[in-house]
Amino acid sequence: MSLLEKALEKYAHHESEVSDQELREVLEDDWDEVSNDPAQLEAARYSLRTIRQIAAGQVPESYTATIECHHCGKVPAWPGYPTPTNNCPWCLGRVAGRPIPGAS
Ligand SMILES: [Zn+2]
Repeated sequence: MSLLEKALEKYAHHESEVSDQELREVLEDDWDEVSNDPAQLEAARYSLRTIRQIAAGQVPESYTATIECHHCGKVPAWPGYPTPTNNCPWCLGRVAGRPIPGAS
């Protein structure tokens, strides 16, 4: 199970900031290495927060562009995301039955 799938399953219902305990659970064996590197730790925290927002159907702050996904329709994404695409940030959530903002 990928980090993304794990986060979707475990943390979709959370809306608050990502705690160290949550990061420790998701990162598992990588925790020791990541927790000693502030840049890696913040990157992991940001990634998990973004994944949680997507799982909850909330648009991450950095998703300021609109792209065309062949599966999800017009969806928000970060500027520079390839469009049109067959694989957007919302595809995994769509497969899991999560809400997709802006989808037709
Ligand atoms: Zn998609």
